[in-house]
Amino acid sequence: MDLRELKFRGTQVAYYVVCQRKLWLFTKGISFEKESEYVQLGKLLDEISFSREKGEEFAYEPVSIDFFSTGEGLVVHEIKHSSALEQAHILQVKYYIYYLKTKGIKVSHGIIHYPKQKKLLKVEFDEKDEELINEVVRKMDEVVRKEIPPKVINKPYCKKCAYWEYCYG
Ligand code: SF4
Repeated sequence: MDLRELKFRGTQVAYYVVCQRKLWLFTKGISFEKESEYVQLGKLLDEISFSREKGEEFAYEPVSIDFFSTGEGLVVHEIKHSSALEQAHILQVKYYIYYLKTKGIKVSHGIIHYPKQKKLLKVEFDEKDEELINEVVRKMDEVVRKEIPPKVINKPYCKKCAYWEYCYG
């Protein structure tokens, strides 16, 4: 694929794993994130836990990385409220690494922080991940091109989703 076409934000990659309907709604500008108490709680936790490091926040449109440090290359850090959706978080960080690599930036690895659980997760990136992200981006494109949103998924975590009222109200 043409790497210049990369236009997704990291949260959209996570949404693709969690719920394709959520990805579709968010991409179409239908958003309730600001009203969601779960989202607000997560943001507050980020600010309290990482106020010093957050001074180095990295914004490289369309990705916005929580903060970074340097080692043998850039280390990408992502802060999450809960590890319940760990697979989505891992893919999000792999996407960041992939994205930065396409910009010629040397990236060492990623680290996901779960301050509430006092847990750190190291995210490596190899050639297979490059193929994986290529495939994910292609499928995300297919989802957002649909004329109507994918169906609701009836998962337990729907209750904590900002779209709960919209989907089931
Ligand atoms: S409430 Fe459930 S179905 Fe609706 S967007 Fe959220 S995760 Fe998807």
